[in-house]
Amino acid sequence: MTQHDTIIIGGGHNGLICATLLARAGQRVVLLEANRNLGGLAATREFFSGFNAPLASTLYAMPEKIVAELQLDQHGYTPSSQTLDLIALSRNENPIHIKADTIGGAEVGESTSYGDYQSMLRTFAKALAPFWSKTMPAISDRKLSSLATFGHLGIKLRTMGRADMLEFFRVAMLPMRDLVDEYFKSESLRAALCWDGLVGTSMAPRSPNQSVITVLSRMAGSHGGLHTIPSQGMSSLISALESAAIAAGVEIRTETPVSKVIVGGDEHGQQVDGVLLANGETIRASRVVSSADPKTTFLNLVGAPALEIEFTNRIRRLRTKGYVAKLNLALSSLPKFKGLDEPNGRMITADKMDDLEFAWDSAKYGEIPETPVMEIVIPSLRARGLAPEGKHVLSANVMYIPGQISGGWTAAKKQELLSRLIAILDLHAPGLSTLVEHAELLTPEDIQNEFNVSGGHWHHAEPSVDQLLMMRPTYEAAQYATPIPGLYLCGAGSHPGGDISGNAGRNAAKAILS
Ligand SMILES: Cc1cc2nc3c(=O)[nH]c(=O)nc-3n(C[C@H](O)[C@H](O)[C@H](O)COP(=O)(O)OP(=O)(O)OC[C@H]3O[C@@H](n4cnc5c(N)ncnc54)[C@H](O)[C@@H]3O)c2cc1C
Repeated sequence: MTQHDTIIIGGGHNGLICATLLARAGQRVVLLEANRNLGGLAATREFFSGFNAPLASTLYAMPEKIVAELQLDQHGYTPSSQTLDLIALSRNENPIHIKADTIGGAEVGESTSYGDYQSMLRTFAKALAPFWSKTMPAISDRKLSSLATFGHLGIKLRTMGRADMLEFFRVAMLPMRDLVDEYFKSESLRAALCWDGLVGTSMAPRSPNQSVITVLSRMAGSHGGLHTIPSQGMSSLISALESAAIAAGVEIRTETPVSKVIVGGDEHGQQVDGVLLANGETIRASRVVSSADPKTTFLNLVGAPALEIEFTNRIRRLRTKGYVAKLNLALSSLPKFKGLDEPNGRMITADKMDDLEFAWDSAKYGEIPETPVMEIVIPSLRARGLAPEGKHVLSANVMYIPGQISGGWTAAKKQELLSRLIAILDLHAPGLSTLVEHAELLTPEDIQNEFNVSGGHWHHAEPSVDQLLMMRPTYEAAQYATPIPGLYLCGAGSHPGGDISGNAGRNAAKAILS
């Protein structure tokens, strides 16, 4: 029987990265993934015969240094250098194109404001960037290395200059609405710029908390956080991560759900002793690293009897309700959007920020919003092989959609939401509905069930201030080690959170090896 040093639970991108780095350091690693496909929330699946799409459509948060460190170019992955415009759609006005440095289609003054806005965000994002790829010190930790991390942050903020530093402290916790109101006049432009701070969270434009921080963390990715779609598709990133893991010696087993983390121990304390698989097989190892979300890891796989009651309660109280649904359409041809030569960007369907706010108001009370807001991409314009020749895939993130609604997500309720979404699409791209060969709509509840993520949450747990940095997911487990010796976390529920960045998986491996 093969002896393993480390068992990784979950083959999302973070699990794969953590496994590879541990194996490269000489550990014998086995990775166990419940689903048939690797990639977790970033896996590409066939949703209709001949039509493929990943749940996570675009890349923006993965830093170049992770791609380089893993030598993904040697495993068939080529990052795209073509960034996607952010396009503010409006029912009655022409679309506004937001590029890296300029805005097209808006009033003259808006372009100047956009330059100032981007320059402010870039300064702050650059100062914070090193901290997404570091283990956060424990709150009570007085070790020199931990104090140095705080000191480094202080120096980074201070060297921005006094004015920028004060401005950073002023805007860091602002609601997105207040921030964009200071800079822009156009309603649809404001709404589109809000989106990147809000998507994947339960924050709306008026919510103060971490939305500005979310924007800044996303800007630490390559191209300053601008979105891309790999020309070979998102599947080429996941295949490269798989290939790198195999080359490093990782044993990968898919369709292998873990049902229990085995916690043993003696009079000296607890110690992880391996995992029990759903098929009854036991795999022993003294280190288990879970990329499953924190609630799944602790409440389902470890179980409350092995945990301190206070810790269990903190995990139980984590806010993990997801509010993003996914719409995938198989289209017989390319739709024509009003005012656009080609729908080759990320298109936001909000006329104004209140469209987002009102959608959130309904969702937080468990109701389907009258007018949900969508971020639409047509990935088949950028990546080959997602649809049959001449046909296209439309993928949209839909906000805010509750995981639970009164009476449950019946087929009729899903159809009601789908009809609303198609009607909105028809307003922006007249006749689009006639092109639909098949529609797939995944609610947060579907995402939870199909992808094994509590609440179907984009980040595994809300990235709010109380669940961020040295508090993520809780202060007892924020350095990837957990209260159970030998058990570690390495997924989106750990610092610095979700998105396809690879930071959590890499940071966890570094923490384990340090
Ligand atoms: C609708 C939606 C759209 C998104 N779009 C984007 C986007 O465009 N760009 C972007 O950067 N991010 C996007 N995200 C977020 C991003 O996909 C995630 O934050 C990221 O993929 C999380 O990666 P991970 O490896 O930490 O976890 P996951 O990808 O969730 O992987 C965890 C893995 O663990 C497995 N697992 C769980 N329990 C067990 C068990 N008991 N046994 C074995 N295996 C188990 C799961 O099956 C899963 O494969 C999106 C998220 C959602 C929900």
